[in-house]
Amino acid sequence: MRKKIVAGNWKMNKLADEAVALTSELVNMANDEVKGDVKVILCPPAIYLTTLKKYIEESPNFALAAQNCSDKVSGAFTGEISAAMLQSIGIEYVLVGHSERRQYFNESNELLAAKVNIALEYGISPIFCCGESLDQRQNEDYIGFVKNQITESLFHLSAEQLLSVVIAYEPIWAIGTGLTASAEQAQEMHAALRAHIAAKYGAETAEEISILYGGSVTAASADELFASPDIDGGLVGGASLKSREFTNIIKAR
Ligand code: PEP
Repeated sequence: MRKKIVAGNWKMNKLADEAVALTSELVNMANDEVKGDVKVILCPPAIYLTTLKKYIEESPNFALAAQNCSDKVSGAFTGEISAAMLQSIGIEYVLVGHSERRQYFNESNELLAAKVNIALEYGISPIFCCGESLDQRQNEDYIGFVKNQITESLFHLSAEQLLSVVIAYEPIWAIGTGLTASAEQAQEMHAALRAHIAAKYGAETAEEISILYGGSVTAASADELFASPDIDGGLVGGASLKSREFTNIIKAR
């Protein structure tokens, strides 16, 4: 059985008291309303991780993710946060290769492979983001492009290592735009990525890996998206900043 996951990427939003309030509200609402074994992963700004850890302690279905980590072990890299540091405060997941990191910080598939490696070395599961631009969808082999992102950043891993990775397919044209990929468009890509993984690692491994969809997911669109056979949950941006909306998305999963 694949893990069902709903992750909330807060990006660079929320002040300290707001971060605590949102986390407490989410934990309370989930305790009251969410049935079943969905994993909820909150991805707040790194500065809040230690504080928020205390607020999810009693809720085993909640976990925290950093939004990024360095590809280096330690040393003179001012402003960076290492995987070892995340491990030392008990963080279980890290986003790797979000399209905003790829776009604004020039993160390449090769660099992301190094980030995946170091996260795994320190026992942290990468949530590996991939996805095509609108131009690529309209003019190129967009499925081939996303498959290649996975090949170049993940296919050096062993099957066992790969199963510690969560994949998040996030078409760039749907992130923060209000444009959601239709359930058919998302399912097409998820099935293609699962087949790509099966061709390299075998059907059993491909069947086990969770592939999340991200891109303007709301409570209104979540039901249909999450009902698709190869969509195992969502990576949610804007709608994860509102406790009622995000709880409704978790309930859809
Ligand atoms: C994201 O940042 O990963 C994301 C999917 O954002 P949004 O839901 O706001 O499109």
